[in-house]
Amino acid sequence: MVGGLFRNMKYNLDFWRKNVHINDNVLHSAHEHGVTKVISCLSTCIFPDKTTYPIDETMIHNGPPHSSNFGYSYAKRMIDVQNRAYSEQHGRMFTAVIPTNVFGMHDNFNIEDGHVLPGLIHKTYLAQRNGTSLAVWGSGKPRRQFIFSLDLARLFIWVLREYKEIEPIILSVGEEDEVSIKEAAESIVAAMGFKGELVFDTSKSDGQYKKTASNSKLRKYLPDFQFTPFSQAVKETCDWFVANYDQARK
Ligand code: GDP
Repeated sequence: MVGGLFRNMKYNLDFWRKNVHINDNVLHSAHEHGVTKVISCLSTCIFPDKTTYPIDETMIHNGPPHSSNFGYSYAKRMIDVQNRAYSEQHGRMFTAVIPTNVFGMHDNFNIEDGHVLPGLIHKTYLAQRNGTSLAVWGSGKPRRQFIFSLDLARLFIWVLREYKEIEPIILSVGEEDEVSIKEAAESIVAAMGFKGELVFDTSKSDGQYKKTASNSKLRKYLPDFQFTPFSQAVKETCDWFVANYDQARK
């Protein structure tokens, strides 16, 4: 069970319960059926709120997560615990990846429940159509590392074929590629040719200010992996959304 900041804040209990059930059902069924490798998906939002930066794979359990999504975070941390236990007790190769904020075609573009980029793409589309301003929630100052879904898919296949550690691996662009929410909104505005006004609604939460992650473990394995440039990936996603508006999940 996943969602953006605002869905997490509403349903911490459901995020905890559903994900703990999913974790145990998937991993234990995989074990019982002799599945040789499982890759689960964690997220950089599960790391401790009070931490040093950049965050790395060794820090998952070092302190409480941000209060906005504690249900999701603790449930996801338990996958790492369970993976280690399946390895110790049964020799299983169950591991996990830790992507940053994912976006791309076929995303959930629901404005209330989704993540920031699909939400803002949908809102920009509507603002353009209705001739209104674009409301960016919060101050626009928080910073995020975004990863394009096609890049993440390529990395997932590499993890499936090549990665042999039980310890998770962060799948992220570099620290230098982190952008503010304001910059992300401006990329969407440019990609969609939106000419209206951008308004920052500071009555809405900013969530975690940042969760800058290190991709140096990934870079040790794959020094030459090329990430799609952010503005190009945003443009492809916006074009897909406009062309597929009727069918898009929203
Ligand atoms: P997070 O990265 O896990 O915090 O989750 P999100 O993808 O929901 O990003 C939340 C950040 O984007 C917060 O700083 C919000 O204030 C900001 N934001 C700005 N506009 C929007 C929007 O339309 N939808 C969402 N979900 N977040 C927005």
